Amino acid sequence: MKYAEVSVNSPVAQRRTFSYTIPTGLDVRAGQAVLVPFGEKVLQGIVLEISPVPAVEDTREILDVIETEPILSPAHISLARWISEYYLSPLFDAVALMLPPGFERKAITFISPARPDIDVNSIEEDQKRVIDLVLGQGRVELKKIEKTLGKKKAGAAVSQMVKQRLLSRSYELAPVRVKPKSEVYIRLVNDGETSSKLTPKQAALIAFLKGQSRSVAWAEARQKTGCSKAVADSLARRGLVILETVEVRREPISYDKITLSYPLSLTPDQQYAFESIKSEINQENPEGVSPKVFLLHGVTASGKTEIYLRSLAETVKQGKKGIVLVPEIALTPQTIERFAARFPGRVGVLHSKLSLGEQYDEWHRIKKGEYDVVIGSRSAVFAPQPDLGLIIIDEEHEWTYKQDSSPHYHARDAAIKLAELIGAVVVLGSATPDVQTYFNAKNGKYRLLELKERVVPVVGTAMPHVEVVDMREELKAGNRSLFSRALSQSINEVIKAEEQVILFLNRRGGEYYIQCRRCGFVLRCRRCEVPLAHHIKEDILICHQCNYKMPVPQACPNCSNRQLKFLGAGTQKLEQEVKYTFPRARQLRWDSDSTTGRTSNEDILRKFRGREADVLIGTQMVAKGLDIPSVTLVGVVNADTSLNLPDFRAGERTFQLLSQVAGRAGRGPTAGKVIIQTFSPENYAVQAAAGHDYTSFYEKEIAYRRQLNNPPFTQLARLVFVHTNDAICQREAEKMKKTLIEESEARGIGGISIIGPAPAFIHRLRGRFRWQLIIRGQNLSTFLAPIAVPQGWIIDIDPVGLIQ
Ligand code: ADP
Ligand code: ZN
Repeated sequence: MKYAEVSVNSPVAQRRTFSYTIPTGLDVRAGQAVLVPFGEKVLQGIVLEISPVPAVEDTREILDVIETEPILSPAHISLARWISEYYLSPLFDAVALMLPPGFERKAITFISPARPDIDVNSIEEDQKRVIDLVLGQGRVELKKIEKTLGKKKAGAAVSQMVKQRLLSRSYELAPVRVKPKSEVYIRLVNDGETSSKLTPKQAALIAFLKGQSRSVAWAEARQKTGCSKAVADSLARRGLVILETVEVRREPISYDKITLSYPLSLTPDQQYAFESIKSEINQENPEGVSPKVFLLHGVTASGKTEIYLRSLAETVKQGKKGIVLVPEIALTPQTIERFAARFPGRVGVLHSKLSLGEQYDEWHRIKKGEYDVVIGSRSAVFAPQPDLGLIIIDEEHEWTYKQDSSPHYHARDAAIKLAELIGAVVVLGSATPDVQTYFNAKNGKYRLLELKERVVPVVGTAMPHVEVVDMREELKAGNRSLFSRALSQSINEVIKAEEQVILFLNRRGGEYYIQCRRCGFVLRCRRCEVPLAHHIKEDILICHQCNYKMPVPQACPNCSNRQLKFLGAGTQKLEQEVKYTFPRARQLRWDSDSTTGRTSNEDILRKFRGREADVLIGTQMVAKGLDIPSVTLVGVVNADTSLNLPDFRAGERTFQLLSQVAGRAGRGPTAGKVIIQTFSPENYAVQAAAGHDYTSFYEKEIAYRRQLNNPPFTQLARLVFVHTNDAICQREAEKMKKTLIEESEARGIGGISIIGPAPAFIHRLRGRFRWQLIIRGQNLSTFLAPIAVPQGWIIDIDPVGLIQ
């Protein structure tokens, strides 16, 4: 007898597998999808392991296999287990990351009479009603019975009658939501010259088909001839044409507009970086040892993408394949085209904006090995790419690589784990690497490769000039507008020269902290160093890390000015001010409010590129990947909004954003200029971004991290409790803190410290309150794993931010 350890699609299953007997005659292998009985239900499951002994004594039988071929490879099985163990997520949530789109389906329960001759006089009232519904029907969905009798009564009556062998249950999976797409094609078999009586429409259709060398899609024929389907059907009946249903590809990349691109001749820096990666790709990497991870640190426009393309080509030469991850927002047609132009017909795409059908087709083609390169956002790291040799993560510092729902995995860490399992190479690329990644590169865990020069328009093009404007001086001079004198003068100049401006404003318009109107001072928590958040309703200041509270002071502790509460503005306000101050400028606004549809991002960009506007106003979105030569001025309206976020990563975040925004200017022949407005001009992150100096930013940042014992010097976990009642939230969080402390003492685990409980930065979300605990320590997954966590808790291991 053989047994299968199955990950079952049920919330009850949590992080464990269940043992099932493999019935004789059924061929079941690891990685395969099966149907299993689970309590009263039948559920989908994935077999993770075949073993000669069950983990428990009593095992039930696997009912059936869903597909004959395994869906998960052995490496993906191990990866799913790792994700579940490391991120403390339900095992099936982790497994589901690797399943084909639309795979998850519920099983439907059917009830049918077991015998034709049920004596209705001998049974109870409820049972009679069930019989009435079922008899003469063949089978009936249990749901239908539940609707008539109510769930409880239906369940009880049915169960009893199944026991008495009056009824029987059967199960079927809900119908698939996605299937291969098919289209009707039409083909001429007999031109009908011999058959005389053709209607004009029929003749027109035949004439059209005569001009085609092979079958054409019926949709096309209909469009070109204006014939209805009835016309085609009548011809088919007469044997003149054949209509046939053909499976077609849903094609997310259109190759019509793409021209092939060829390898560029590399600069010496690029050459060195490429050779280093190449020599690892060419080496046989043993499985299960630390993978080769490269950090490609190169300023914007230093030619990182060219290195990716070359490395992929080298991987393909070795008979292997690659995956490229880019942030969702950068996954534009232009980005995809750059890869498709080098590997025509060999690039697959996976991201959430594709229709489910497109995702389904792409997934299956990837699994069949039809693509050399798969490009996609975060979840594409789980693409079933066979013979995977290289994983590239562009803009590796992006926070969107962390999933903010279960499982809370980070695509970078998942990629490195996967690479370890299969012996692949990983290339992480960024102009502003994550501090943790750079720390690893500095310490030899990863290999650091640097591209120090811009390559466009010519090699060695200078980075744009950055001017930092002290907004305190503006206030002193009586300028209370959103624009400093320097910025408004520059905007006027650019508009006059018929060039373009980008104005950048962080989305959160400073509504959460208060700032002195005179000196720009922001109150911080004395213990945690993070800015105190202003709760408007109660008008108090609160630390979202340690729950320290204080009233809003009467005067600024720094300059005694009595006017505090200087609030920043949002993009809409900015839009109005631009209208008012620069009446001649044509403007466009680009933020998540103005881009809801599938193409409106593209629309806005196309308009701006087409010079339909002089000023583009935007949030984070404009910071990324925008490459417009006629932009000669970038204005950061308020750098402080990200600097004052109550999070230890605020400095890093600010540096990244400012560097990216600054990288948008001066991509064309005219030198660009960047103006950063801030109340903290001396801040190290602002200074370093202005000087295009990653190293000095890193040195300062890592010193702060060490001093305050933040990652990478410790590991963090964030525990959030969500409930409709605020007081219950607080109580539950306090209880959990006590449990954690007791647990660490009982198990003799040192070095654990717990911050909080405190209300989460977003204290109330969709009508529910949220309180959080932050845990510092090492090996937090191991520490937390055995602790029973009640419902309502969210666990986030290695959170990217503490303020969600
Ligand atoms: P990054 O990814 O670092 O921002 P890109 O790879 O997008 O930079 O390169 C910016 C531009 O420079 C692209 O148009 C690219 O084709 C071009 N480029 C890259 N490498 C070279 C090179 N060695 N010689 C000439 N142009 C190059
Ligand atoms: Zn504090």
